[in-house]
Amino acid sequence: MPRAESFPDAEGQGVILRLVSAIQDNAKILSEIDGAIGDGDHGINMSKGFSLCRERLEKSPGGFAAGLRTLGDVLMSEIGGAMGPLYGTLFTEMARGAHGEARIDSALFLGMLEGATAAVKDLGGAKVGDKTMVDVLDPALEELRRAVRSGSGFSACLAAMADAGNRGKESTRDMVARLGRSSRLGERSRGTLDAGAASCALLLETMATSIIDLLGEEQ
Ligand code: ADP
Ligand code: MG
Repeated sequence: MPRAESFPDAEGQGVILRLVSAIQDNAKILSEIDGAIGDGDHGINMSKGFSLCRERLEKSPGGFAAGLRTLGDVLMSEIGGAMGPLYGTLFTEMARGAHGEARIDSALFLGMLEGATAAVKDLGGAKVGDKTMVDVLDPALEELRRAVRSGSGFSACLAAMADAGNRGKESTRDMVARLGRSSRLGERSRGTLDAGAASCALLLETMATSIIDLLGEEQ
């Protein structure tokens, strides 16, 4: 059965709630990954922020753009560590890209991720190879762009994005951290995944699968 090529913004809050669940379910493993070369708080920090977002959305529900905005606001203001401002920026910029749109399609989603990735890179100064979330965002965006430009359906574009994000996550294993807390370890940071890359790949994959599910329901 063919899938829809867009979904209504009004039906997108479930996507945000699935991001929350994914972070809650993986909080322990994310903190364990951070513990290897960081301070072991990444899963706890993320879970705290994402759980607060769920509470806010339960009180004042909205659509996809509004949910992304709430998530961005909460992460920006309520979670500590390097990731609060970086993920806060990512989701706030995605929300900005979707603002006022009745339906979300692949071209719009590409624009959202382009703006958000550029803002994260601007804020943190990370480049590919520095062993951060940018090692996931950059190739995921690249692959999404390639898929959208080649005319693939929205679901296939999202799947390609998620796969590239997961490969990006794996690529951080052999990198030496050049930014953030783990950079203090120098060569000793090689051999384990980056925690921010792990959470970012999880979030992109969860976003992809939940939007793909929505597109199936739309048909
Ligand atoms: P902290 O390092 O303050 O304990 P977290 O544990 O929440 O913060 O997040 C650590 C993650 O932050 C790293 O795994 C890395 O992916 C990411 N990170 C750190 N500095 C930057 C940066 N300048 N740009 C992008 N990501 C970064
Ligand atoms: Mg940490």
